[in-house]
Amino acid sequence: MTTTPAEDSTTDSASLDDYDVVIVGGGVAGLSAAIFTARHGLDTLVVDSGESILRRNAHLENFPGFPAGVNPRQFLDLLDEQADRAGTHRLEATVTRVERVEDGFAVGTADGDRIRTTYAVAATKNEVGYLEDLDGVGVIDRGKTFLDTDERGRTGVDGLYAAGRLAEKPHQAVVCAGHGAEVSITLLEDDDRSFYHDWVAPEGYFTDRGRDLPPGCEEIDEPERAEREATSLGVMRERFAETHPDEQVTHPSLRED
Ligand SMILES: Cc1cc2nc3c(=O)[nH]c(=O)nc-3n(C[C@H](O)[C@H](O)[C@H](O)COP(=O)(O)OP(=O)(O)OC[C@H]3O[C@@H](n4cnc5c(N)ncnc54)[C@H](O)[C@@H]3O)c2cc1C
Repeated sequence: MTTTPAEDSTTDSASLDDYDVVIVGGGVAGLSAAIFTARHGLDTLVVDSGESILRRNAHLENFPGFPAGVNPRQFLDLLDEQADRAGTHRLEATVTRVERVEDGFAVGTADGDRIRTTYAVAATKNEVGYLEDLDGVGVIDRGKTFLDTDERGRTGVDGLYAAGRLAEKPHQAVVCAGHGAEVSITLLEDDDRSFYHDWVAPEGYFTDRGRDLPPGCEEIDEPERAEREATSLGVMRERFAETHPDEQVTHPSLRED
């Protein structure tokens, strides 16, 4: 098995086959979930088999923050890059099986990899076959399959969550991204982590008011803020300097190859 750790990974201590969180599906919901668990310092692996359905979109015009819309392939690449920068590990593979083991799950792939994890997040849109060996998973079949979850993405199996369209969320990218984030926060809460902000605040915002820095908060001074902004401007200029190279993807039934 070869996973790809992010260059600036915060999870260097992770072995390649033992993770805190394995996210099955690296589309909109899965990558959004990974950003939050990885930024919190959980060893996070995203296993993805190929294509987010968003690659078929022609021009993404309703994702907040892009006033004139954005190329969806470009958007997914940016999301991908953000998950990498947060420290997410990656594996290109199809997950074929998830089994209960002591203190977590074993995730098996079509290539024969077996990965141990404490928590698992299913974010595979309408694909549920790999969960059929797990007792307690509620599958909803309405022509397309979904997982039965509570309002925070918990399934009937402790430690197994579902995010995005698979959890019956509405079929819009921003909803699925938001739900991926919410599921990660839920997982952190279930793990008894302190209330988690994941905020970057200006220097003194809390501490100059005699308050401790809340868990998951960071205060940065003006030079550091300016440096981060300069990095972000550089990245965005480069990513948006040219039209995105990937071709428009269409429905499989319309593809000629
Ligand atoms: C033509 C078209 C246009 C659209 N236009 C818009 C739009 O304009 N605005 C909008 O908001 N939404 C749009 N959508 C909907 C949007 O793409 C979805 O709502 C969103 O992508 C769902 O996110 P998700 O993470 O649940 O699923 P996905 O983004 O599809 O991610 C699922 C991931 O799971 C992976 N996967 C599946 N099975 C396995 C497995 N066994 N092992 C490993 N990985 C697996 C897949 O490779 C995929 O990457 C459009 C969809 C289509 C088809």
